[in-house]
Amino acid sequence: MEENTILEERELPEKQGILSSKRYATTTNGSVIRETGIAFCDGCGYRLDSNRATIICCVCRKKLCTSPSCSIDYAGRHYCEDDLQRILPLERLQFKIIHGLSCNLGLTEVRDLVRCQKEDFNSALKELVARKFVEKTGLSLFSRYEVLDRGILAWKTYYKAFTENGDVAYFVEEVNNHVKEKDRNAVERCYGDIS
Ligand SMILES: [Zn+2]
Ligand SMILES: [Zn+2]
Repeated sequence: MEENTILEERELPEKQGILSSKRYATTTNGSVIRETGIAFCDGCGYRLDSNRATIICCVCRKKLCTSPSCSIDYAGRHYCEDDLQRILPLERLQFKIIHGLSCNLGLTEVRDLVRCQKEDFNSALKELVARKFVEKTGLSLFSRYEVLDRGILAWKTYYKAFTENGDVAYFVEEVNNHVKEKDRNAVERCYGDIS
């Protein structure tokens, strides 16, 4: 197609799963229109262009941007969150529980910081135990919950995606503040008020 025969250019959003394409159409009066399909991230709707890497989900072939919440890496492959959740399920509440426990908080502390319904918390915890993400160790009063390797792997995999913004990011910050406060109190108990 000769460039000089094209009278009009038109940009259209590309369909899901297709990167970008060019089409030519002829109008009734014989002029030629070049239609360019513009790719958008199927996750967040952000425009994908040649300057930015485009990632393709290895399961559904959705095109995704590099934002950690749009494309998540697991075992050397790229996934959209929906598909990764089918392979490695981890709810945001369960992520919070693992995060709290791996910061050496007790279960009661985690529950206080999560601020959700007791039933929701308990069923999320129960599922983590059933999936061998978390394990209860010790007896009665001395029992505690520990995060197992599979739990750490799931937590690591979703860390960037979940903590980018929203309630999980807020929770992580609250845990940080809580841990700092605890450390400060521990120092004060040893050496008196240091401020
Ligand atoms: Zn995106
Ligand atoms: Zn997918």
